[in-house]
Amino acid sequence: MTSPLVFQMAEGNLQTEFGKLKVTIYNDGQVEATVLQTLELNTSQPVHLRIQSTCITGHYFNSTECNCKEDSDSFQNYISTHGNGLLILLNQEGRANGNVAHIASQKLKEDGATQDEAYMRLGFPKDSRDYSIVPKILANLGVMQCLLHSENERKLSTLQKSHIHCDIFKKN
Ligand SMILES: [Zn+2]
Repeated sequence: MTSPLVFQMAEGNLQTEFGKLKVTIYNDGQVEATVLQTLELNTSQPVHLRIQSTCITGHYFNSTECNCKEDSDSFQNYISTHGNGLLILLNQEGRANGNVAHIASQKLKEDGATQDEAYMRLGFPKDSRDYSIVPKILANLGVMQCLLHSENERKLSTLQKSHIHCDIFKKN
């Protein structure tokens, strides 16, 4: 007997400035993730994938200290134009150290610390993000091959360990 790895909690279409996309909320019993995808997914072809963590300062406050909003918008635009893609949004503010850590780190960064150094001085790991729900969602959607729009090694290795064939997307 097999048990589901993730549950689809709700789904619906969303009109965006880039076109109509579909939103699905997943839960694996521990964490929730929100997926924004093209209305059609052709899993016989590699699917374009972006794994995005929530970022209040980038997405809502238009911070210029990170590329979260810019990267997310340009990916939405890409999949709306080219099709066959999904963005998985994970609730992981401040590299999953939380918003308190993120905002507390601003003072240290103003004084010259890098983000890594700032988190460590505050007693947090450099990066607490966890991508383990991602392969479960891909399995639920029948996605076995993808083109990752990121060069993040931890994202790539999470996918490779779960036997999803994944290449890093290179723009021509
Ligand atoms: Zn950001």
